Amino acid sequence: CGIVGVVGNENTTKILLNGLEKLEYRGYDSAGIYVNNENGKDFLVKEVGKISDLESEVSDDVQGLIGIGHTRWATHGEPTVANAHPHFSADNRFYLVHNGVLTNYAELKEKYLSDVEFKSQTDTEVAVQLIDYFAVKENMDTESAFRKALSLIEGSYAFAMVDKENPDRIFVAKNKSPLLIGLGDGFNVICSDAMAMLESTHKFVEIHDGEVVILKKDSVEISTLDGKSVQRDPYTVKLDA
Ligand code: GLU
Repeated sequence: CGIVGVVGNENTTKILLNGLEKLEYRGYDSAGIYVNNENGKDFLVKEVGKISDLESEVSDDVQGLIGIGHTRWATHGEPTVANAHPHFSADNRFYLVHNGVLTNYAELKEKYLSDVEFKSQTDTEVAVQLIDYFAVKENMDTESAFRKALSLIEGSYAFAMVDKENPDRIFVAKNKSPLLIGLGDGFNVICSDAMAMLESTHKFVEIHDGEVVILKKDSVEISTLDGKSVQRDPYTVKLDA
């Protein structure tokens, strides 16, 4: 299972699919991508089986400047297209990929989301619907809604999320599941393993458990969950793709 993401690159789709192929060694049963072209057009493609099966579902018009991708190793819900990531909120606004296991998803669903119609059996969908709940029902800006949901969620996660209303940034967080930032030239990426992005960059920045990252094409903003800003230097990976 793995995560990739790109912001600020017109070859987003290609970088995502190539990155997912590089993460195949981690094992998975299904895969998917979400791509947004920043002009209001977006694409969600998910498939059960191999990355090559996903690739054949991705038509040439699936292009954009920002996107997230995922290989899933099912823990909650069968390996089906509906259960494959990215998951999205009921208003089709937030798109989220997740690696890990949320331990209190049932409680959160019951407490906040009893009138939401769920489209999957996953623990992950609770996270994206919960973020949407705080953004829409409690009128929070997206970063506050993301942080509020993280403060309630228990378990392991690497999360990457795009808000369709502000598709210039990826919201990122992690706890006990791997995730890294990669620094490109005029764009930035995320990945579970540097291997996935060596064709785009050799410069990476660690994310620690309990941190939130707002990733734009020209900036990386890291902070702790309670809002303290974090400065961290990049390191160089000396391997070839
Ligand atoms: N628990 C999530 C699911 O079953 C994520 C699994 C994963 O890490 O791929 O969909």
